[in-house]
Amino acid sequence: YTAKQRSAGAVVYHAAFDKASEQSLSLLTELRNAVERNEFRLFVQPKIMLGTGKAVGAEALVRWAHPERGNVFPDQFIPFAEQTGFIRVLTRWVMEQSAILAHELAARGLNLKISVNLSTRDLMDQDLPVKFADILARHQLGPSAFCLEITESAIMDDPVRAQQTLERLHEMGLDLSIDDFGTGYSSLAYLKRLPVNELKIDKSFVLNMENDIGDTKIVRSTIDLGHNMGLRVVAEGIESEAVWRLLMRMGCDQGQGYFMSRPIPADQLAAWLENWRPPIAMPGDAAVEPY
Ligand code: C2E
Ligand code: MG
Ligand code: MG
Ligand code: MG
Repeated sequence: YTAKQRSAGAVVYHAAFDKASEQSLSLLTELRNAVERNEFRLFVQPKIMLGTGKAVGAEALVRWAHPERGNVFPDQFIPFAEQTGFIRVLTRWVMEQSAILAHELAARGLNLKISVNLSTRDLMDQDLPVKFADILARHQLGPSAFCLEITESAIMDDPVRAQQTLERLHEMGLDLSIDDFGTGYSSLAYLKRLPVNELKIDKSFVLNMENDIGDTKIVRSTIDLGHNMGLRVVAEGIESEAVWRLLMRMGCDQGQGYFMSRPIPADQLAAWLENWRPPIAMPGDAAVEPY
């Protein structure tokens, strides 16, 4: 390279870098504004008892109603929000909206547990348990109103601090769930020490399990593992009746998936629950005898 070429390269490099950081800066600004402009939307996906078809909970899944880009999915901004620390603002918003929803449902006699997803940065936040206590008190909710979902990888980023936070949340009476189970790098030796109530099998093992013997084996072993550890086991990504039936036969406790419902706006949940009839015959249903 000549000096000129090198410096030209450097110029290009810096220009690209500045552009990237300019974009991140504007994304961060946009995210901050999105709170004030009320652009986040709380969506929820029902959690169903697989043996009875009863809806017992709902997972809060955030969407960003962007004025130009339309509905933006969490994968597009959660990792960035996590990197920049904005996630704490977002988590707080999700907790607050979930509390409003839980309160409204309880007023209609519907006691559903709302699951909220937490990230690494949330677990590093020493004030998180206090924030939760404050939200529960302001919305007149007991701790059983919530389940907190944490991925294995979020826990393994800083296992010691994660465990401290999880223990405090557990002492408050909040349910804890390990999300995307089977995709992280946590050891069972470590997991058994965590005060969790639920294992959530990652959808990558569930989506196509009726056609994949390997997935079927993984799912069956995970259900047994969870039960042997005294945990409730939930499968995500149920897209067909066949998979529901398979999971039911394996004794999986609860499930979520497009077969039951896609994530829907939180304000539509009460109506959804009114109309919900399990689309498959449950073992307890009166059999219609042909004669
Ligand atoms: P997750 O917590 O594992 O949530 C499950 C994801 O699977 C959701 O994607 C859900 O819409 C999708 N899903 C549910 N049933 C099915 C199905 O039958 N088939 C298929 N193909 N997909 C299904 P979503 O809403 O795009 O969220 C993606 C991830 O973003 C979540 O994974 C979670 O890690 C994160 N996320 C969402 N909302 C929040 C939030 O409020 N805070 C944090 N920290 N993370 C969030
Ligand atoms: Mg989740
Ligand atoms: Mg998951
Ligand atoms: Mg996931």
